Amino acid sequence: MCYTLAPKKQVFKNMSRIPEEIIRRVIEATDIVQTISAYYPLKRAGRNFKTNCPFHQEKSPSFVVNPDKQIFHCFGCGAGGNVVSFVTLQEHLNFPEAVRFLAQKVNIEIPDQFTGDNHEHHERQLIFDVNLAAAEFFHKTLLSDKSENAQKARQYLKDRGVELETVKIFQLGFSADKWDDLLDYLRLKNFPLSLIEKAGLIIRRERSEGYYDRFRGRIMFPIFDTQGHCRAFGARAIEKSQEADGAKYINSPETLVYTKGHHMYGFHLAKSVITQDDQVVIVEGYMDCLMPYQAGFHNVVASLGTALTVEQIRLIRRYTHNVVMLYDSDPAGLSAMMRSFDTLIEENIDVSVVTLAEGDDPDSFIRSYGAEALKARITAAQNVFDFKLDYLLKQHDSQTPKGKARIAGEMLPTIYRFPNAVEQDEYLRKLAKKVDISTEILSAEYKKVDTQLSQRISNRIEEKDFVVQVTTRTVERDILRLIIEEKRFIALTKKEIAPSDFHDETIRTVITQIYQLFEQGQSTDIAHLISRFEDPKLRQLISALMTEETPPSADKDKMHADFVGRIKQDRQKVSRHEIVDAIKAAEKSGDYARLEELKIKFNQLLSK
Ligand SMILES: [Zn+2]
Repeated sequence: MCYTLAPKKQVFKNMSRIPEEIIRRVIEATDIVQTISAYYPLKRAGRNFKTNCPFHQEKSPSFVVNPDKQIFHCFGCGAGGNVVSFVTLQEHLNFPEAVRFLAQKVNIEIPDQFTGDNHEHHERQLIFDVNLAAAEFFHKTLLSDKSENAQKARQYLKDRGVELETVKIFQLGFSADKWDDLLDYLRLKNFPLSLIEKAGLIIRRERSEGYYDRFRGRIMFPIFDTQGHCRAFGARAIEKSQEADGAKYINSPETLVYTKGHHMYGFHLAKSVITQDDQVVIVEGYMDCLMPYQAGFHNVVASLGTALTVEQIRLIRRYTHNVVMLYDSDPAGLSAMMRSFDTLIEENIDVSVVTLAEGDDPDSFIRSYGAEALKARITAAQNVFDFKLDYLLKQHDSQTPKGKARIAGEMLPTIYRFPNAVEQDEYLRKLAKKVDISTEILSAEYKKVDTQLSQRISNRIEEKDFVVQVTTRTVERDILRLIIEEKRFIALTKKEIAPSDFHDETIRTVITQIYQLFEQGQSTDIAHLISRFEDPKLRQLISALMTEETPPSADKDKMHADFVGRIKQDRQKVSRHEIVDAIKAAEKSGDYARLEELKIKFNQLLSK
C-alpha cells in the first residue's frame, strides 16, 4: 500500500491565549447563579445560595454561591473559584475550553486562532491529532488491507455478526501484524517520534535504537471522548496464540489525554440519545456496547473496566440520573457491578439492574432472543436495593443469625448512601422484614454504620490535597481580603508592605499579581482576578476569602492600619531573629568587623 507524502495539514497549529478582554466579556455576560443552578438546585441563604457540594460527598450543604462577587466556594472540600473554574470542574474542561463553553452560551464569538492557552493544551491537541490519524489508518487497514491477518480480522467481525455499517460508525480498525506499520505511516505524515510515543502508540526499543508499534495484529477500538476526540485505543487479539503471550485485550497506556477509568466507550455516539431518553444503559466491554447499538439501542456505553469510577459517574450525571446496569452474570461481572452500586447511589443516581442468565452477555442475548427481548428486560430492570438484597438472600441463609448478620452488614452501608432520609427509612424497614430482624436492632446497627462511614468519608476529604490550609496566618488573609474587597487599599498596602513580607506562599503569589495588575491599571475585580490563576489552590484561597464575611459595620481604615502594623511588626521580629542569628555566627567565627556592622543594624531596628 502506499500513502501520499503530503503533510497532515495544521499539525502544528499556531495557537495563542484567549485575550484577557474576551475572557472578561464572557465572565461579565455570565451569571454564576444561573450557570450552577442549571446543574444543581440552589437554595437562597441570606445573600448567598447554598447546595450540597457536587465535588465531594456531603449530607448538609457547605457549597456556597455568592451572586455579588460571582464566585462559589465549598467549605467542606475547599473547591472554589469563579464561573469559569466551576465549568472546568463540572465539565472536565481546561481553562480555555471552559471559556469557550460559556462564550457559546452567551453568544460571544472567540476566533479559532485562540484555541490554545499553554504548552500543555497545545500538546493535548497534538496527541488528539496523532490519535485520530492512527484511528484512520487502522480503520483503512481493516477495510481494505489485503494481508492474510487483515482478512482474518474481517472474518472474525463477520462471524460475530458485526455489520460493515457498525464498523464504520465505531471506526473499528486493525493493526497489521508488523513492527512498524503505523510508525512508518505516521512518520510519513510528519508526526514527530516523541509525540507518537507520548500518545502511547509506539514503544522505545530496549536493546537497540528506535521504536516499534505497540499494537500489532489486533482489532482496534478507538476510544473517543464526549467531544469526539480520540483519546486512546483498546485492542483485541484475534489469534489464540496472542492471548497466550499477551492478553486478550490490551489498551493504550495513560497519557496526557487518557486516564484509565475517566472515560466511557461509545459516549460520543450515545450522548444525545441519553439526554433524550433520560436514561443510560451501562455495559462492560466494547462488543457489549456495539452489538446492542447495532440492534437499535443507542443509549448504551461501556465502562471498560471493573467497577465504575467516580469520574465516570460524574460524566454520566451530566446527561442523566437514570442508570441501567447490564453486566455479565459471571462472578467477575457481578462483583464489578456490586462495587459500583454504592458510588452510584452516593452520587444521587437512580440505579436499576438487568440480569441475564449466567453465560449470557448483551451480545449473545440479542442473538438468542432478539432486540425486543432485551428491550423488555431493560424496561423491567430491578431496583438496585431489591437486586442487591435478592442476591444476598441467595448467597446467605437468612434463617440463621450469622446469615442475617452478613446480609444486614452488606445492606446497611448501601442504605446509608441514599441521600434521602425517607428512602433510607423505607429500605431499613424492608430489610428488617425480609431478614426478620426487629427494626430497633437494625436501627441501632445502622447508627454504627453512620458514624463509621461519615468518619471515613470525612477522612477521605481531608486527604485531598486541594484543601486550603487553614494554617495560613489570619492577619495575612485578612489584609488580602480587604484589598480584594476595596481597591483603594491596594495602593495604601503596596506603599507599606512588599510581597516578600508575606510568609504564606499562596498569599504572596496573589498579592504579587494584584500589585502587578494595579501597576498596569488593569481590573482587580474578583472574578477576573481568579481567572488569572491556573493553580486551583490559589483560586480556592480567593473564593474562600471572599465567602468569609467582614462585619459590615467595621471601620475598614482602622482595620487596615492595624493589619499593616501587625505585618510590619512581624517583619521586624523576623529581621531581629535573623540578625541575632548572624551575630551569634559572627561571634563564633571571630569576624569582629561583621559583628560591629550587625550590632549597628540591630540597634537601628530596635529604635524603629
Ligand atoms: Zn465540596
